Amino acid sequence: MNTEMKNTNPEASREEVSKLKLAIQKSGRLHDDSIKLLKECGIDISNGVNKLKAEASNFPIEVYFLRDDDIPQYVEDAVADIGFVGENVVYEKKKKVSVEEKLGFGKCRLSMAVGRNDEYTGIRFLEGKKIATSYPVILSDFLKKNGVTAEIHEISGSVEIAPGIGLADAICDLVSSGSTLFMNGLKESETILQSQAVLIKNNHLSTQKQVLLNRLLFRIQSVKKARNNKYILLNAPNNKLSEIIALLPGMKSPTVLPLAEEGWSSVHSVLNENDFWDIIEQLKAAGAQGILVVPIEKMIV
Ligand code: ATP
Ligand code: ZN
Repeated sequence: MNTEMKNTNPEASREEVSKLKLAIQKSGRLHDDSIKLLKECGIDISNGVNKLKAEASNFPIEVYFLRDDDIPQYVEDAVADIGFVGENVVYEKKKKVSVEEKLGFGKCRLSMAVGRNDEYTGIRFLEGKKIATSYPVILSDFLKKNGVTAEIHEISGSVEIAPGIGLADAICDLVSSGSTLFMNGLKESETILQSQAVLIKNNHLSTQKQVLLNRLLFRIQSVKKARNNKYILLNAPNNKLSEIIALLPGMKSPTVLPLAEEGWSSVHSVLNENDFWDIIEQLKAAGAQGILVVPIEKMIV
């Protein structure tokens, strides 16, 4: 019994070495979607929001909970091998990391906003103005690229109140719906960057870690594909089958099964969300009936 226990110890430490270390936001807008994506990838982590790290029970991964601003630095320094973080933070921090995959959540844009009553005629409006932002690096690159000289006033939060209290003439901040701008008497005047959460990785991953990352990326890509596609089932009269099949892209070709009712078939296929309504209308016009659309959980192609 004793020897058995000793024998398992080296195994455990070898396993430790080969775990992929992932940094995600501790709390905030990216936290829940990061956990949800892991879950959809079949990775269950013991819930440890108040802890610094948590382990997955069914994948060799260790999750670190950090402030989003610190994630690029930790990944560059290999404290974490990979991280989920907004592109806005990646471009602002300019750390030596690689962006591997867009994750499809945390969508927002970094925009310029000016007073609601200002007559914004174009980027030249900003010449000589005072601009408040938490993104001085991205903003100064943008101004330089457009040949505009302005004074950048860096503040870490509540940027939208700066014009109202006379601290700035304009702001550069993250926007999703625009309601915060509106409530502060501002209007969006220029988009600098479209952003979403991305997976970043350390530039010097060991082969062993890269193999684990490839497994994770494969799962993430399957989840993303599934989100963009729907499974469709419909009934079609046999004399309309070829017309209906021609409308369906499918993964290879649609599945066609005879119905109990003579002269009818059931057709199954996969549709992309973007073409969805167009194709449904055409299918109805072509004689399809009893159309059922169901979500796909994973899609392996
Ligand atoms: P932390 O405490 O981790 O530093 P934070 O206050 O900097 O958190 P959040 O407000 O939680 O950050 O936003 C995290 C990320 O969510 C942003 O960097 C951005 O990529 C994304 N995001 C999506 N929509 C928005 C939005 N409307 N406003 C701000 N960030 C958004
Ligand atoms: Zn932050």
